[in-house]
Amino acid sequence: MRAIMLDATYEPLGIVSWKKAWRKTLDLKDRYGNILHEAKANVLWTYPDKIIRSEHAKWDWPAIIILKKPSGRNRKTRNIRPSKKSILIRDLYTCQYCQKKLSNSSGTRDHVYPDSLGGPTTWDNLVACCKSCQQKKSNRTCEQSGMFPKTTPREPTLIERFRNGVRISNSTERRTWMLGLKKLGLEYLMNGEEE
Ligand SMILES: [Zn+2]
Repeated sequence: MRAIMLDATYEPLGIVSWKKAWRKTLDLKDRYGNILHEAKANVLWTYPDKIIRSEHAKWDWPAIIILKKPSGRNRKTRNIRPSKKSILIRDLYTCQYCQKKLSNSSGTRDHVYPDSLGGPTTWDNLVACCKSCQQKKSNRTCEQSGMFPKTTPREPTLIERFRNGVRISNSTERRTWMLGLKKLGLEYLMNGEEE
């Protein structure tokens, strides 16, 4: 079970592994009160009935955490490459030609304007695609093949990327996060229209 990591400004920074979330929120002192490990984030929401155990201690399992200090990272200018995986996530693992559901192994990315004709490998020229549609379309343009993507591809915004990540997460994660965001008054992170 992973955790949503929020910046101190409440902007979502992404979804992180439980280990990373646990380490970020771990405060450890020795018995003299000396700090051994200082938490960089606070836990806002935990998974019900789930515990992280070590030999000598146990912790609630973090589901939503927030950094204590702003990360200072300028997320708006951070480019993410349109890898196969990031294209699949943007298109919610759905073939943009036939709407078939895809997995990491059955899905691929297709150049809408064929790369053999000079089509660029960019967010606005790539869509998630099943292998049979890719074979069918081959090196033809949309007009030549009569195959048009369902949505016009473009680079997702950071909040869209975050929302897509939540949408394709497993049902326990999603249920816990949605409830937590709602209780924390942060449901706009999932529902809001604004960037
Ligand atoms: Zn298809």
